[in-house]
Amino acid sequence: MKILISNDDGYLAPGIVALAEVLASIAEVVVIAPDSNRSGSSNSLTLDRPLSVYRAANGFFAVNGTPTDCVHIALTGLLDYTPDLVVSGINQGQNMGDDTLYSGTVAAATEGYLFGVPSIAFSQVGYGWTNLDAAARVAREIVLRRFDTLQKPYLLNVNIPNLAYEDLKPLKATRLGKRHQSEPVVKTEDPRGREIFWIGPAGGAKDAGLGTDFDATANGHVSITPLQVDLTHRQQLAMLESALA
Ligand code: MN
Repeated sequence: MKILISNDDGYLAPGIVALAEVLASIAEVVVIAPDSNRSGSSNSLTLDRPLSVYRAANGFFAVNGTPTDCVHIALTGLLDYTPDLVVSGINQGQNMGDDTLYSGTVAAATEGYLFGVPSIAFSQVGYGWTNLDAAARVAREIVLRRFDTLQKPYLLNVNIPNLAYEDLKPLKATRLGKRHQSEPVVKTEDPRGREIFWIGPAGGAKDAGLGTDFDATANGHVSITPLQVDLTHRQQLAMLESALA
């Protein structure tokens, strides 16, 4: 099995180092990731300049671009083969509900999925890189499951509670929950008196009911949500057709 690994926290982040290490024991891995933290970069491609690739001492490839750039160039010219799987992460911080739209971690996996490669995004709840060994062990177990009965390509969004391995509850299939709108922007002044805006944190969970990623992880379960990319609102489409008739 050949696995392409990326992330949005940058190629030096402990999460991607841990992920590459555990997956190297079960597959041939290549790591191609942003050269700096590009969290929140969503599915953006860099189109206004060319991208450079630098091979770091540990063998990882660092790209001066976004997570989506990394997977895109890997699959369209950097690699001379198509990987069997694209994995992204392990992200520092959860990517649940609306987070998935902003997340660079999910975006890297989405790019693999859009190129027809089964892809999995891994995120760990919380900050501080604690219990990373547990999260990496879970990621390895999930990759080993292979999910042969799922329609291919699949795109899975995994959120792992920040707990010791023994305290983690079984994997749970979930749907995305929903957040309240983001906290207000922080409006202040720079040292030269110019107005600046600092985007606030994501809002709290609004729909965290049974069956959601929020609920599963809050109860210690590892959450796995199958994602798709078609944003069409089917019900609105029918209503729009009626409105235009
Ligand atoms: Mn991140």
